Amino acid sequence: MLNIDLHCHSNFSDGTLPPDELVARAAGRGVAALALTDHDDTSGLPLARLAAIRHGITLLNGVEISVTWNDHTIHVVGLGIDPDNEVLQAGLSATRHGRLARSEQMSAAFDEMGVTGTREGIKEFIANQNMVSRTHFARFLVKQRIVKDMNAAFRRFLGNGQPCCVPHRWASLPDAVRWITGSGGIAVIAHPGRYQLDTAEMRSLLSEFRDLGGQGLEVVTSSHKPSQYSTFAGHAQYYGLKASSGSDFHSPGESYHDLGGLPPTPHGVGHVWDVLNG
Ligand code: AMP
Ligand code: MN
Ligand code: MN
Ligand code: MN
Repeated sequence: MLNIDLHCHSNFSDGTLPPDELVARAAGRGVAALALTDHDDTSGLPLARLAAIRHGITLLNGVEISVTWNDHTIHVVGLGIDPDNEVLQAGLSATRHGRLARSEQMSAAFDEMGVTGTREGIKEFIANQNMVSRTHFARFLVKQRIVKDMNAAFRRFLGNGQPCCVPHRWASLPDAVRWITGSGGIAVIAHPGRYQLDTAEMRSLLSEFRDLGGQGLEVVTSSHKPSQYSTFAGHAQYYGLKASSGSDFHSPGESYHDLGGLPPTPHGVGHVWDVLNG
C-alpha cells in the first residue's frame, strides 16, 4: 500500500521543521505522497515543492483552516488547493488576522498567572510572524520547565477553558469550505475525535459540512485512538464522506505518529486519495 500522509505542519505555522526539512524527513521515512497543511497559511508550499522534487516524492498543496462552528473551534483541511487563488488567500489572510492581538492577550493572561517573559520567550519558536499560535506558548513553557511536556501545557494553561486560552472567532464553516473547493481543493474535517461535540452536534456538523460540499473526514490521525478509527470510518460512510489519513506531525517526538507512520485506514470506506487522483 502507498504510504501517504495528508496532514502535517512546518515552521510556517506551528511545526518546528522548515518545509524542506519536513519533506526530507517524510521522504526518509518512506512517504510517497505528502500534503503540507499549515494552519491558515500556504507560504511554506514553494519551499516544500522544491524539496519534494529533489527527493522524488509527491507533494499536495494543503492548508488547515481554523473555523468557528456553533462556538466550537473546528479544523478543516484543504487538499489539492490552488495557493494562487485570490479568494482563498484573502480568506486565509482574514483568518490569520487577530492572531497577534490574541497573542498579546495570552501573554497578559500568563503574566496574571505569574508566568512572565512569554512575549520575548515565544519569539525563538516563531518563524512566521503572522502565525502565532498556542503551540508556540506551549513550547516556551516546556523549555522553561514550567510544564513537563506539551500536553501538560495545554492541560494546565492553554487548552479550551484553561486560564491562558483566549478564545478567537475564526472563519465560518461555509466560508472555509467555499475557499477550499473554490480553489479546486477537497475539504476534509480534521481530527473529529478531538472536538467536544455531543452526538447530535457531531451529526449536525457532518451533515452541514457534506451539504456545503465537504468531501472528507479524517479517520486515521495522531489525535485518534485505534477504536476511533472504526467509529469515524462508520461516520464517513454514513454521511457519504471519504476517509483521510494524516499524522498531524508538528515536531519530532511531539505527535503520536511520526510522518508516514500511520496504520492503514479501515477496510470498506473510500479514501480521499482516490478522489484526489480520480
Ligand atoms: P491555536 O490555533 O493558536 O488555537 O492553536 C491550536 C494548536 O494547538 C493546534 O493546531 C495544535 O497544534 C495545538 N494543540 C491543541 N491542543 C493540544 C494538546 N493537547 N497538545 C499539544 N498540542 C495541542
Ligand atoms: Mn497545530
Ligand atoms: Mn488541527
Ligand atoms: Mn494540524
